[in-house]
Amino acid sequence: MSADYADIIVDISHEKLDRPFQYRIPDRLKDRIDVGCCVVVPFGGANRRLKGYVVALSDKCNFDEDKIKDIEDIAAKAVDIEDRMIALAAFIKKNYGGTMIQALKTVLPAKKSVKRLESRYVKLIIGREEAISLLGECERKHRTAQARLLREIIDREELPYEQAVGRLGVSASAIKSLENSGVIKTVSDFSYRKPVKAPQGSSENVEGDKARGAVFGVSEIKLSAGQQYIIDEFVKELDAGTRTNYLIHGITGSGKTEVYIRLIEEVVKRGEQAIVLIPEIALTRQTVQRFCKSFGDRVSIMNSMLSAGEKYDQCERAKNGGIDVIIGPRSALFTPFRRLGLIIIDEEHENSYKSESTPRYHAREVALEAARLNNASVVMGSATPSVESYYRAQKGSFRLFKLNERLTGGELPKVYTVDMREELRSGNRSVFSAKLQELMADRLSKGQQSMLFLNRRGYAGFISCRSCGEVIKCPHCDVSLSEHRGGRLKCHYCGYETVKPLLCPKCGSKYIFGLRAGTQQIEDKLKGLFPGVRTLRMDGDTTRTRDSYERILSAFSEGEADVLIGTQMIVKGHDFPNVTLVGVLAADLSLGGGDYRCGERTFELLTQAVGRAGRGKLPGEAVIQTYQPEHYAVVHAARQDYEGFYEEELLYRELSGYPPAAHMLAVQIYGKNEDNAKQLANRLAYVVKCDKKYIGDCEGVAAVIGPAPASIEKVNDVYRFVFYIKNARYDLLVSAKDRLESELKAVNPAEVVQFDFDPMNIL
Ligand code: ADP
Ligand code: ZN
Ligand code: ZN
Repeated sequence: MSADYADIIVDISHEKLDRPFQYRIPDRLKDRIDVGCCVVVPFGGANRRLKGYVVALSDKCNFDEDKIKDIEDIAAKAVDIEDRMIALAAFIKKNYGGTMIQALKTVLPAKKSVKRLESRYVKLIIGREEAISLLGECERKHRTAQARLLREIIDREELPYEQAVGRLGVSASAIKSLENSGVIKTVSDFSYRKPVKAPQGSSENVEGDKARGAVFGVSEIKLSAGQQYIIDEFVKELDAGTRTNYLIHGITGSGKTEVYIRLIEEVVKRGEQAIVLIPEIALTRQTVQRFCKSFGDRVSIMNSMLSAGEKYDQCERAKNGGIDVIIGPRSALFTPFRRLGLIIIDEEHENSYKSESTPRYHAREVALEAARLNNASVVMGSATPSVESYYRAQKGSFRLFKLNERLTGGELPKVYTVDMREELRSGNRSVFSAKLQELMADRLSKGQQSMLFLNRRGYAGFISCRSCGEVIKCPHCDVSLSEHRGGRLKCHYCGYETVKPLLCPKCGSKYIFGLRAGTQQIEDKLKGLFPGVRTLRMDGDTTRTRDSYERILSAFSEGEADVLIGTQMIVKGHDFPNVTLVGVLAADLSLGGGDYRCGERTFELLTQAVGRAGRGKLPGEAVIQTYQPEHYAVVHAARQDYEGFYEEELLYRELSGYPPAAHMLAVQIYGKNEDNAKQLANRLAYVVKCDKKYIGDCEGVAAVIGPAPASIEKVNDVYRFVFYIKNARYDLLVSAKDRLESELKAVNPAEVVQFDFDPMNIL
């Protein structure tokens, strides 16, 4: 890249980001300047020099060619936290598209003129004897307000300012006059907002240098052999200075969280800090309290529920060495620690680690880069690792650890897979199979609890046969077709369309339609079947408010209901020792989501759902109801066999050229005018198709799929088109994105174009 001009920001506070200054790139620096570079530039009058960051390059001068200044030099090697944050932003811009400004806004803490929390004190600065005689004088002269203040302060030496004016009713002018005569002093003390209240028993208020590296109340639990092995290996590599990334594949309850805490303790002992990423909804009070037990006041949280002031203060505390550990979703990754040593990614398979707004970065990938920049390690953990991560562990780029033992006691539940086609044949049209009815009746009679899980994830109106289980699929993409109005079936990847068949193409049955059911209907039917049953329901409708989620879970935990009915929300979170039965209704729904991740999602959900039964002393059972009992995701979930699932899933991905076997870039075009948006989509797709570089090594897999209208073609009168580019090499997709970005610069269309690398959801 050898552009002539560079846009540079010299002040990276949030408000100033949108106003970069343009500089000329002198010839001697041309090959070395790129977006994200740290440079030295003349700024303002005299010989003032400032450090700045390049946010964009261009060939055009936007100012007076005579007045524009030259970049002076490239700044010395990046050492500040700020430099590392900029480097991370540059990585995001390069790999996910969007502008450098958008990337910087993602990475830098919001700084909306936040006021520091201030507390003022009134302090006695004369000796006690002197103060007592002054008090006598005030009393004699009837300066009652001053006397009140003196009386109080003589014993306590200092008093919050608010108490002086509030409770004691001393006027500001009376305080001022005492201050002027050198009796007292008002002092200000700034403090940070602390969103986490340390639980009792842990040390409080230990911020500052003294406390750095301190670890509290080291956990008493004796580690299992598997846990201890991970810690030992980690410490060995840590002390050898080897930087490794790890994947812990451990079933729920195998003690992963305990391992995270111990690993962080090791890192903190060495004067380094840690970031703990958790999925969006999983931040429970319980998790935070567990970390507080070990790290006291030196752990904090970061999430979207915090006020701007709280967020800002957590970043300041991190920068100043006031905390060692931060816990939060995606955005916690950008906490500016000075010596970051470890990033934990819990439940690393979760979709919420992928940002759904530009820049659409994946927190796992950005964490790996952040760790590289900081010479830190990443530890990922999951009971059902993402196929991508497991693939990399198999290839040796992550070190794999396994934890196969449940430390909470309790066996894995016995699982029955019920073929709903058989139920239909034997005349049972209920949503509950005979087996599930029998086991529920049994639990109700014993006073044990059950959970009914309605799998609605990825539900996109797909069509299947009730007699043979056949799902109608796209002949080109091997994903299920979705039903649209007028009885048409469409593919969300390539736009293939066909009419809905009247009879099943495989067995000729006329029972062929989409599956539809809601938690409300399930609840009604359950009450019809078991009059008097006490139920709780958890879905999008019942969890509108922030607390309702926790409230429903704790009500169930307290035994206020016999059955908890819910969507995927119920498969995470609390342990319910009294739950001995889990019923999975419509296990198939997530198999028909119309994208290549359906199998993986289904396996995850079923594994998690089944794993909820039998967490306590009582043994558990689970019933999986499905129309596709032979589907590998169902079969392996019923056996709780991750490896078996992984092998079949990888085979499918390899055959069809989906990640991780290849990479995919979704190019999304949004516009008010349908024809124009469609034309732009065609033009952009054509640009890619014409370039041999992008479609060279795809080995029989269509390199460009589409364009096609998005699955929801129009939202708020904005038309949406999408096409996909597949390639085994991620860097070629990045270069395709760059090529399209420069095409867009030339065309300057009214439409908005967004890029989504290895998309998690179809548009
Ligand atoms: P995971 O994160 O894998 O689900 P946790 O770390 O939450 O597992 O552990 C599950 C439960 O087992 C917790 O209540 C935890 O206190 C307990 N636990 C963890 N490690 C041990 C151990 N070595 N011995 C006994 N109990 C343990
Ligand atoms: Zn059929
Ligand atoms: Zn298709």
